[in-house]
Amino acid sequence: MTEQISFYNTMSRAIDKVEPVDGKEVKMYCCGPTVYNYAHIGNLRTYVFEDLLAKTIRLAGYKLKHVMNITDVGHLTSDADTGDDKMLLAAEREKMQVLELARKYEKVFFDHTAALGINRPDVVARATEHIPDMIAFVKKLEEKGFAYFSNGNVYFDTSKFPNYGQLSKQNRTELKHGARVEQDENKRNPSDFVLWFTTSKFENQVLQWDSPWGRGYPGWHIECSVMAMKYLGERIDIHCGGIDHIAVHHENEIAQSEAYLGHKWVNCWIHAAFLQMKDGKMSKSKGEFLTLDTLIAKGYKPEHYKYFCLTSHYKTSSNFSFDALDAAKNAYESLVSKIKELKQSVSDNKTVDIELESSYIKKFNSFMFNDLKTPQALAVVWEVLRNPAMPPKSKLNFMEHTDKIFGLSLEGIIKEREAELMLPDNISKIIEQRQQARMAKDWKKSDELRDVLLDKGYGIKDLPNNQFQVFAIKKNLIER
Ligand code: AMP
Ligand code: ZN
Repeated sequence: MTEQISFYNTMSRAIDKVEPVDGKEVKMYCCGPTVYNYAHIGNLRTYVFEDLLAKTIRLAGYKLKHVMNITDVGHLTSDADTGDDKMLLAAEREKMQVLELARKYEKVFFDHTAALGINRPDVVARATEHIPDMIAFVKKLEEKGFAYFSNGNVYFDTSKFPNYGQLSKQNRTELKHGARVEQDENKRNPSDFVLWFTTSKFENQVLQWDSPWGRGYPGWHIECSVMAMKYLGERIDIHCGGIDHIAVHHENEIAQSEAYLGHKWVNCWIHAAFLQMKDGKMSKSKGEFLTLDTLIAKGYKPEHYKYFCLTSHYKTSSNFSFDALDAAKNAYESLVSKIKELKQSVSDNKTVDIELESSYIKKFNSFMFNDLKTPQALAVVWEVLRNPAMPPKSKLNFMEHTDKIFGLSLEGIIKEREAELMLPDNISKIIEQRQQARMAKDWKKSDELRDVLLDKGYGIKDLPNNQFQVFAIKKNLIER
């Protein structure tokens, strides 16, 4: 049984019902990070939203395949093929090899997202590991007459794609992005974009591959079409990203994918609005930006920032300030205290009110199913906690349900044993071996050891900077 889910579709400018186009599984592609620096907390807001979306789709009873790319080559400082190569600049700054730098920031990215209770997508695909697929894709575009070779580079000819501009509702010739900074003389139209670079000003580009057009590397946009199609097939249900991607990156993805396929590619385009600072949007190019580590160093927990994200709807921009973060921190900490109080009460009172419990769960779910209304869903959480007529055990059951979606680490608190956690020697030893495996980047072994710990009744949550949290899991926990 599935529930109806609807989200705001940038393409139709309406809230659209989502149903898997193949009748079996929702296929979702999200543009991932360019791993040349830390993800800032604005980027993380977008990934928080995408994870909420994934969990909500599954909550509604659908199967889901969630794919995300990792950009480790080809992204220039301007999305429209001008400026410097982001990876190259950063590698020079940090005196590292480009791929070494990419792996470093990819790992930090997943540490930060895990600390925010974000699940890893089902498929994480690196651009550098899909170069032959990209070359084959560009070759087909060239054969179909959508690509041209000009002064060493291969470009997509947007004049051959009449629907260009449909997502941002701009006429192709009005689109200014191609002409905004330096104009690439080799383009036939300002909105054309690079599919493959061979000659460029980046003579010292170390990542280069042989291709029919000469040794070079892919443009930024091509990777998403190629990897989305490779892992999700020819029709996608949902494609996500931040709003900055609408006018250039996603228009280009649509143009090259639909030119390649000859039919519609994506049903629903969902975009997250920006996190704003007092002086405008948070951006890496401005140099100063806040990371999750900055917040942790200032004494906040990842959950405080996660709670802050839930207080605004993904489609409205959110204003970050430390006052607002303090308010989120206070609210979160009082949520935790409430849960601890409830746990105490449950030892004397095990009654449940199934009807009330399920009506609140239904109310919470319906806000999430109807365009991810997190502020309203959060208000239901407080309504439950404040309802004197609801038995404590039912409140805890409800909180466990919401935490599966919100990922505020409350489940761990609900399941934690009351006594201070004293780890037996054999458990400490396994934890130590797991930490060593993580330091050696042996993820397989570290996952195996995590499962051994789970088997023995201990959960472990990884935090940034090689820190972690251990909690004991007791079966039938609320029954105590
Ligand atoms: P990037 O690593 O720069 O490609 O960006 C990663 C994701 O974060 C993309 O989906 C962007 O659209 C999104 N993004 C960039 N800046 C912000 C911001 N200030 N607030 C929210 N999302 C952002
Ligand atoms: Zn993309």
